[in-house]
Amino acid sequence: MNPFDYRRYPSWCIVAAFFLVTSVSKGTFFDLKPTVERYLPNYDFYHNVTRMNECLHHISSQYSDFMDVEMRYRSRLGLSQYVLRIANFSLDSVDNNTPDRRSRILLSYGEHAAEFFPVQSMFHLLQNITEGYDLPVGTYGGNFTRFLLKHFDLYLLTIANPDGRVIIERTRNYCWKGTANNADLNSDLERELGNRRTVRIVAEPECRVIRDLTSKKHFDALISFHSGNRQIYFPTIGKDPKVGGTDVFYLASLLSSSLKSDYTLTPVNNTVADESIFSYATKEKKIIFTYKMCLWESEETRSESPEKDCFSIFNPPSENLQAELKAVHPLYPTLFNFIHHWKETQLYNEAEQQAKDKSAATRRLSFSTLLFFFIMGCIGVFLIFSIRVPFTWKMYYRRQRRIVSLRSLGTLFTLLIIP
Ligand SMILES: [Zn+2]
Repeated sequence: MNPFDYRRYPSWCIVAAFFLVTSVSKGTFFDLKPTVERYLPNYDFYHNVTRMNECLHHISSQYSDFMDVEMRYRSRLGLSQYVLRIANFSLDSVDNNTPDRRSRILLSYGEHAAEFFPVQSMFHLLQNITEGYDLPVGTYGGNFTRFLLKHFDLYLLTIANPDGRVIIERTRNYCWKGTANNADLNSDLERELGNRRTVRIVAEPECRVIRDLTSKKHFDALISFHSGNRQIYFPTIGKDPKVGGTDVFYLASLLSSSLKSDYTLTPVNNTVADESIFSYATKEKKIIFTYKMCLWESEETRSESPEKDCFSIFNPPSENLQAELKAVHPLYPTLFNFIHHWKETQLYNEAEQQAKDKSAATRRLSFSTLLFFFIMGCIGVFLIFSIRVPFTWKMYYRRQRRIVSLRSLGTLFTLLIIP
């Protein structure tokens, strides 16, 4: 047995060991001093890691008909990165010949530890879905949940970076964005090209869940949620924002216009070889609708020392949390509506193309059949005229021929002429 294999130890043991080691190296490798904040999270409103886990277990057991929580993905310190699947499981196709008509979407939250707000928006979405399930048909909420379960196979990566959140809770350093390895899971969009790392961000243990899910499932869309400003990043090729795909640009503008505040649309040149979740999803996994969406920005002027006052940069005050969550929620119905109609159009076009291919194949077949019979006919005629019949066969044929005499013909004509 390898005593250094961290998977052998319970996660609390690893987290305790991590803090013991980092407290020794305090001030050298990690800056774990508490930050001076304008306001702090009230955990009656915000979820801490323990409440997050309890909440997910409670919801998934109460609504097990359409929610399933996957716990096998773990961070570097061995904490669970819960993946919640929301779908009508009875529609899971057992027969490979029956195509699954549902749209598949992956929503990723909690990549940057300091950004609490996106994780809260995920819980707000869950609350809307579960409440809608209990409402009758005809109500807005009831229709929303039924529409979702009928047409979607939804995956929520509820917290991509649990280690970072535990570090914040223990140290009260609200500027901590990275993982336990201090890796920034979606850093490449801000990073300068000259400062390229040799290690790919997507190779970090926290990204195994992304690598695994995007390899096994064919996602139509992937959105990575953030906060700190109001921007929607979308992939493009070259300088023209529409080259990446008109639909991609159109959905970004729809998402932006569905929200009251102004969101900047930021095209990201995808010809640059990047390393993060965003570029991995677009470049390697070819997920058409990939976005990085920053949900919230403080309207107050930024602190003079932003490295010491981070919670208020990334998250609204606890008493405003509910109102801010309601303000960003319309992006979800907008996203689901658009993707559903896009998927229907794709399936219709595919079916039409298949029908065209089939009729072209049938036409090709009938032409080749005709050609075959024509050639066979030609060969037959050629054989009849070219094969020499043996002499004995000719004699037999002559003996069998009926000789019609002139006398009998004359009698026949006489009978026909005389009335
Ligand atoms: Zn972020």
